[in-house]
Amino acid sequence: MEKQKRFETQAIHSGYDSLKFQGSLVPPLYQTSTFTFPTAEEGELRFAGESDGYIYSRLGNPTVRVLEEKIAVLEQAEAALAFGSGMAAVSATLFYLTRSGDHILCSEGIYGCTFGLLQLLKEKHHISHDLIVFDNEDTIRKSIRDNTACIYIETPINPTMKLVDLEMVVKVAKEKKIPVIVDNTFCSPYLQQPIKLGCDYVIHSATKYISGHGDVIAGVVAGKKENLEEISKTTLKDIGGVISPMDAWLLIRGLKTLAVRLDRHCENAEKIAPLLKAHPQVTQVYFPGDEEFPQYELAKRQMKKPGGMISFELKGTKEDAQAFLDRCRLIKIAVSLGDAETLIQHPATMTHAVVPQKDRERMGITDTLLRLSVGLEAWEDIWDDLKHALDQNIKFT
Ligand SMILES: *Cc1c(COP(=O)(O)O)cnc(C)c1O
Repeated sequence: MEKQKRFETQAIHSGYDSLKFQGSLVPPLYQTSTFTFPTAEEGELRFAGESDGYIYSRLGNPTVRVLEEKIAVLEQAEAALAFGSGMAAVSATLFYLTRSGDHILCSEGIYGCTFGLLQLLKEKHHISHDLIVFDNEDTIRKSIRDNTACIYIETPINPTMKLVDLEMVVKVAKEKKIPVIVDNTFCSPYLQQPIKLGCDYVIHSATKYISGHGDVIAGVVAGKKENLEEISKTTLKDIGGVISPMDAWLLIRGLKTLAVRLDRHCENAEKIAPLLKAHPQVTQVYFPGDEEFPQYELAKRQMKKPGGMISFELKGTKEDAQAFLDRCRLIKIAVSLGDAETLIQHPATMTHAVVPQKDRERMGITDTLLRLSVGLEAWEDIWDDLKHALDQNIKFT
């Protein structure tokens, strides 16, 4: 029944039956660390896995369970797990899928802390990795080694917005029987559903669009039931990066408006991108909804809409880019994304400051590149703020 409903409806109703919770319209917040057993025998049965029922909130919590069931439905996955941060989700998944001596094949330009985790895995656990541009099947085939344990992808890639063709990657990965993990944070399940395209795991920093309100740090992983049960019993339970019931409750609330929020984020971005592109102080705009975007066709095929993230390049120097940021008023200088507030940041000195300069240059992260997370304000006000800050960059020499 549930699977037949549309995304917007599922985001509100799936994973929860009010009649099982005293008719409470909204899923109750089980703000409790532990659960009492009616008898010693029942406690024994629960620990033995022979009786359903909760034990202790690190092993499971009813509010968290509602969130996980919703995410599974929205990603069209068999199951999902929630975590205390996007990085807890990434690390639990990679720890589960790899062992010492393995290799991970990644898309170039992954999230900074994921990159940090790969370094740690290499130095402490002898798990190597390669960061490659997934531009055609042969490159992928040649980069897969006998010890490649998984393929890890972000698309669109932060902050250059380059896309990876997921169907192409899945085709090669299936030949070699290697699981594909996609960090779907930039899209949310509303815009892109990698599991439908054959990917095995989807990860989100739920901190971003899934929360949508800038008040939670959390993560989720969706995938096959069998695999997620294993993660739940090992790298979630024993490493312990669990989500708090309160944060799960806030995410359940955020999900109800995911589709309407994303529609507005995308609509606003589609208004702002061409205006930026036409401004004399802007030399480049990277936005998958731009018809001249090199992967425009792929974006249309793989994503429902182009998303709310725009990167753009300014004329001038690093100092000009920083001065431009300082002139923004409505738009706030901050990392993170997917909030109601429009946020802007300077990747070269902020999110990607840890990437060595020559790697940054190769990846197209220049000193004048800026990343804009288009918020939910009136687009005219967002544009007025950008225009005001841009116009003053013009030097009359
Ligand atoms: C923010 C982010 C993460 C990390 O998530 P946290 O919730 O901050 O731990 C991972 N991947 C992407 C693409 C992100 O934007």
